Amino acid sequence: MPKGSALGGLEKLLNSIASDLKDLKKQVKKLGKKRGKPGRKPKRGRRGRPGRPKGVKVAGKRRGRKPSKKFKKCAKRGCSNKVYAKRLCANHYQQMRRRVRQKAAK
Ligand SMILES: [Zn+2]
Repeated sequence: MPKGSALGGLEKLLNSIASDLKDLKKQVKKLGKKRGKPGRKPKRGRRGRPGRPKGVKVAGKRRGRKPSKKFKKCAKRGCSNKVYAKRLCANHYQQMRRRVRQKAAK
């Protein structure tokens, strides 16, 4: 493919995009006049947002189910740390999570 023709094509494309942009700007200006302030979206309220209702206090930072009483210690052999999640201590839980992520990345 000769370079000149490719560049010419690009130039045409750019020109058409530029003219499209001009038209769009005109339209935006028109719309702005109708609404008052140009290019501003109306503010949306925060109603209907999922999550905890305001004013509800949560004890601690724990999320999810509490570890079962049966498994107070890490499930890994030779590890006597306290259970953090899924029968694993914080160290081994992080390790497991990392492994899962690496698998997912592959
Ligand atoms: Zn552990």
